[in-house]
Amino acid sequence: MSGNHAGFTAIAACWVCEGRNLKKVGVAPIDLSEFRDEDALLAAYSGTSVSLQRCAACGFVQPGALPSLPRFFDRMYNQLWSADWIQREFESSYKDMIFTGILRALAARLPASRRALLDVGAHAGRFMRLAQAGGWRVEGLELNPRTASHAAARTGAPVHRLNADMVDSLGRRFDAVTLTDVLEHMPDPVAMLRRVHAVLAPQGWVAVKVPNGPAQWFKEHARARLSRGYAPRVANSLVHVNHFSPRSLRVALERAGFDRVAVGAGAPELLPDPGAGPAVSNVLRRVSYGVSRALPGGIHTPFAFNLQAYARQSEG
Ligand SMILES: [Zn+2]
Repeated sequence: MSGNHAGFTAIAACWVCEGRNLKKVGVAPIDLSEFRDEDALLAAYSGTSVSLQRCAACGFVQPGALPSLPRFFDRMYNQLWSADWIQREFESSYKDMIFTGILRALAARLPASRRALLDVGAHAGRFMRLAQAGGWRVEGLELNPRTASHAAARTGAPVHRLNADMVDSLGRRFDAVTLTDVLEHMPDPVAMLRRVHAVLAPQGWVAVKVPNGPAQWFKEHARARLSRGYAPRVANSLVHVNHFSPRSLRVALERAGFDRVAVGAGAPELLPDPGAGPAVSNVLRRVSYGVSRALPGGIHTPFAFNLQAYARQSEG
């Protein structure tokens, strides 16, 4: 089954700093067999794997190679989610601590007259809706047709059906751009951040939230030690292609042209409908987040599962 895939293209230099001292730190197995009926070329990669490599210069971790199949990631994310599921994604509050924190931080950095916001990877539109409630004029970018049309219907705002790497083709600029749980999925993240820089008005702000690579690795490997047979799954099927450390996220934003870069701990997702299990888990998530913010250097500890960065467009 894996004999007739389209092959791999090796990646020789760090996407963030162009460093060439890359050391193998893990393996990402690929299993896309769920696509065997709808996309045989995609499913053909099942049973293969790619190495994960850490850059000695900046600490960034990326795949040693990527599948050569054209539009590999678009095909992987072309999921036919049910209307019910999308509706729940819009209604559910599990990311609201993240969303409201981002809106507060952006509002504090921009004068009240500058409230044009673009959400890249708008998903079902909940963040757009919360932003509108906070006085922002929003637009979204969302490739998936089902979530995009849901977001447009619920917000009445434009939702552009474009791949995120077409963000600079919109023909207008925004005061703020948000990428929440988006950048870890996109190969060549500095190129993406340069496009975001181009779509921001002078001295506009970007907000980027990603998983904290080192802390996620620590958590997954600790879990693997505790439970026999559990394999760490930080990068399976290349769902996450980028594994940022606090330092490599800063370097990526600076190389894309941003200034005033600030990287801190990102807020956690909280599980919906707290029964006893989720309630305990939510407390642990809040405590981890609190500890990672309170400790000096807290973002460099295993308590910071997520990173939240803000950076300014550097023109003018
Ligand atoms: Zn590097």
